[in-house]
Amino acid sequence: MNSNRNSQNATNGHSAKGVRAIRTVRTVLVSGAGIAGPSLAYWLHRHGFEATVVERSAFLRDSGGAVDFRGEQVKLLKAMGIFDAVKAAETAMGDQVVIDGAGEPVIAFSSAFFSGEVEIERGDLARILYDATCRDTRYVFGDWIVGLDDRADGVRVTFASGATATYDLVVGADGLHSGVRRLAFGPEEGYRHDLGWAIAGFTAPNDLGLDHEGRIYNVPGCGVMAASARDGARLGVGFVFHAPDLAYDRHDVEAQKQLVAATYADAGWETRTLLKGMWQAEDLYFDTLSQIRMDRWSTGRVVLLGDAAWCAGPGGSGTGMAMMGAHVLAGELAAAGGDHTAAFAAYERILRPAVKIGQKQGKGAGGFLAPVDAKKIASRNKAYKMLTRKMVGGFFNWLTARAANAVEYKEYKEYPMEPVAPAVWMAGESRIAA
Ligand SMILES: Cc1cc2nc3c(=O)[nH]c(=O)nc-3n(C[C@H](O)[C@H](O)[C@H](O)COP(=O)(O)OP(=O)(O)OC[C@H]3O[C@@H](n4cnc5c(N)ncnc54)[C@H](O)[C@@H]3O)c2cc1C
Repeated sequence: MNSNRNSQNATNGHSAKGVRAIRTVRTVLVSGAGIAGPSLAYWLHRHGFEATVVERSAFLRDSGGAVDFRGEQVKLLKAMGIFDAVKAAETAMGDQVVIDGAGEPVIAFSSAFFSGEVEIERGDLARILYDATCRDTRYVFGDWIVGLDDRADGVRVTFASGATATYDLVVGADGLHSGVRRLAFGPEEGYRHDLGWAIAGFTAPNDLGLDHEGRIYNVPGCGVMAASARDGARLGVGFVFHAPDLAYDRHDVEAQKQLVAATYADAGWETRTLLKGMWQAEDLYFDTLSQIRMDRWSTGRVVLLGDAAWCAGPGGSGTGMAMMGAHVLAGELAAAGGDHTAAFAAYERILRPAVKIGQKQGKGAGGFLAPVDAKKIASRNKAYKMLTRKMVGGFFNWLTARAANAVEYKEYKEYPMEPVAPAVWMAGESRIAA
């Protein structure tokens, strides 16, 4: 039980020392230590809120494919003071080349198309965000929320471990299959729209000898993306395949591998080599390409962020948008003096147009990466050959940066808060893998 909630005795407005004390909101529980959660913790701390992050996994999930940043999102990385760290770990990816069955090039996408201004592996980014926040944020690994009682003066939370605590706000930053969304808004089926394709991402030995370059290969309904990873010894591999209404067990990795192996058994090119890598991989990320569409992202003192609220799927600027959303959410909470109702409304007003663009782009990702028949493969190649020509290069760059630039980076006034004693007590010890 929270016995030390500063929100109960702090004063509103500015104290005699000129330090602003926020009366209505002080403690925030964030569910999910992926990209959105730690980004939010970073900005909450800068604005004087006290964040606790609870992550279902027993360790930081520092894997995943490459993610890129452009335009306004690069400004955000700089404002967070992590740009240099991101740059130091960048993939420095070059061209991604679409090839035919004989390995011959068909189209070359310059790095600006897939890799933006700076590209980094998701796992490296997750680690950078964790490192930037772990000193000021309480992380609890291996626990998750099982009960939310949203009251007028706070949210009473019950954790799977049996611990209970009360927070001023709860944020669901727990991804596509968000637990907070289910508890606060209802079952996933009401919000998740399956786009009809599935993705399997993993790292494999660099048996293709790629050096800062990638290959995209297709047979009808199946796409293979392979690009050299940051260290050159590994490949980042993505298999995207047409799979409408796919039913699978999210927790059965072995069955997911079997499904991918069966789907790609006769795909040709170097697919067999890559499948061998998949069987050895310990970092398989498997999911359907899905979008989350919701009329509102908050209810009472509970709000959603990132994939939990608006997952767009690959190509929808999901990572940058999750980070920009975190910045806006914390900034609006500070600007509203902790009035969460006003802050949630402003957050949604600012983010919605960008999410709309991202989801529109994301809708086309499956059909672009894995066209369903030979005719569609040929027409994609024809269209993109034209688009990648120098003549329309400017338009092409504008198109790819549209979602990233749809929310301008804005500097929120910061109100430093007086440090407070930890405001929550939990039974579980926080753990992190070495
Ligand atoms: C390990 C991993 C690999 C990924 N790889 C890819 C990829 O290759 N390609 C791609 O397009 N997208 C990938 N994604 C998704 C991508 O990270 C997101 O689309 C995007 O970065 C937005 O981030 P997010 O923080 O909203 O969600 P996520 O990055 O998915 O983070 C959500 C976090 O919440 C945690 N979580 C889930 N349920 C609960 C719960 N009930 N309680 C507490 N915590 C919970 C998860 O373990 C995760 O750490 C991956 C996600 C993860 C977790």
